[in-house]
Amino acid sequence: MGVPGKGHNSSLTDAEMSLSAAAFRREQRVVPGGSMRAASWFRPHPPYAARGQGCWLIDIDGHRVLDCANNFFSLIHGHAFQPILEALRAAMERGTAFGLPTEGEILLAEALAARNPRLEQTRFCNSGTEAVLAAIKGARAITGRGRIAKFEGCYHGAYDWVEPSLDSSPENWDDDQGNPASVPYNKGTPVSVLEQTVVLPYSDADRCAAILRREGPTLAAIIVDPQASRAGTVPISSDVVSVINEACRRDGIVLIVDEVISFRLSFAGASPLFGFEPDLVTTAKIIGGGLPIGAVSGPAERMSVFNHSLGKPRVSMGGTFSANPMSMAAGLASLTHYSESEVLRLNGLGDLLRTRTRQKFAAANIEAFISGTGSLFRLHLQKSRVTDYRTAYPSPEVAVLLQQVHAGMLNESVLLTPNCSGALSTPMTEVEISDLADKFVKVVAEVMDSR
Ligand code: PMP
Repeated sequence: MGVPGKGHNSSLTDAEMSLSAAAFRREQRVVPGGSMRAASWFRPHPPYAARGQGCWLIDIDGHRVLDCANNFFSLIHGHAFQPILEALRAAMERGTAFGLPTEGEILLAEALAARNPRLEQTRFCNSGTEAVLAAIKGARAITGRGRIAKFEGCYHGAYDWVEPSLDSSPENWDDDQGNPASVPYNKGTPVSVLEQTVVLPYSDADRCAAILRREGPTLAAIIVDPQASRAGTVPISSDVVSVINEACRRDGIVLIVDEVISFRLSFAGASPLFGFEPDLVTTAKIIGGGLPIGAVSGPAERMSVFNHSLGKPRVSMGGTFSANPMSMAAGLASLTHYSESEVLRLNGLGDLLRTRTRQKFAAANIEAFISGTGSLFRLHLQKSRVTDYRTAYPSPEVAVLLQQVHAGMLNESVLLTPNCSGALSTPMTEVEISDLADKFVKVVAEVMDSR
């Protein structure tokens, strides 16, 4: 707040002449697609970020926007949070990386264990993708099995085995028994990967139970994100949680709860909130305070699969920048200031956003819904209930409307992710939240009226 800047309100001609447009044209020559990340891409091109302050982001043309994307929900304290900057400055003076362990990694692992005793031991890496792949390799070594199960449409990073079904569509989403199909995401995915990945329905406990009864004895792991963004940002039902817990107990399957995004939902993370007692937990994003990070945590007995101190470990987990002191320092400052009371305050702001927006949608008779719990939310342009990837799946017409809402919100100086989801950050107050609710309703009403 209090950062100078203009609203993001430009005509097409202005847009074409903007510094962001020029940067995009230049980047296209040296980067395929002219921008590094497919997930943050939108037409004609995203604005280029110059700097951030608190919950505000300023682009290179000087537009100031309320940042609800927060680098894909990793910046729980927004931008340039003083305690993180101070921790980073001090760490930088000491040295940015060593080929030796540092005290910082002990402190951050201890901070995780102090929040949830189930996170007794931790191994750090540099991204959620790496954490997930290490957890899956760990599960394979623990069980001696190769296959895994994941939920339809759910994102767990770029490891091949968690990608199937990521963008399945009504034309290919059922197999010949009416269960979710293991559909390749990238061209060239080996068939063996599809055979090794069982896809589960996120909101159908009976079907889920039937699939797991059949496939359970062959599974190394079930990986689940309890409020999966691509499955609509809706919490998983307690019935499905029971089915997962029961299958893991019965068949000795390793339960991996992927809290890369959902860790923020409670002080102790997402697992206790949803009734999971995971063997392994993957985290990333907010535990790095804005720097690259990933982590696998769990009870010492499970984590011993990575123990190298007694000879060759069952699974080797390393990396040049794993547990680098900069990420450790920023992560510790981030978690220290995401106290129990801050978690509750931020979750309360999320409730306020959803309540206000839903009331206003209802009052204006707008066919839209805002899902999520805690500080995470996602907009859906439909009245029918969103329960999973399929019910959240936008028709081609709705996909266009969502793009228009995204662009409309940017014109109103609010940055959402391209699928119209967002996350709150601790610099936000009721002022930003009520403004956000008003803008949501205004923009959605305009887009729906223009159909
Ligand atoms: N798991 C989940 C649930 C995620 O949302 C993400 C990233 N959005 C990942 C894993 C991968 O994390 P990263 O981008 O740090 O590799």
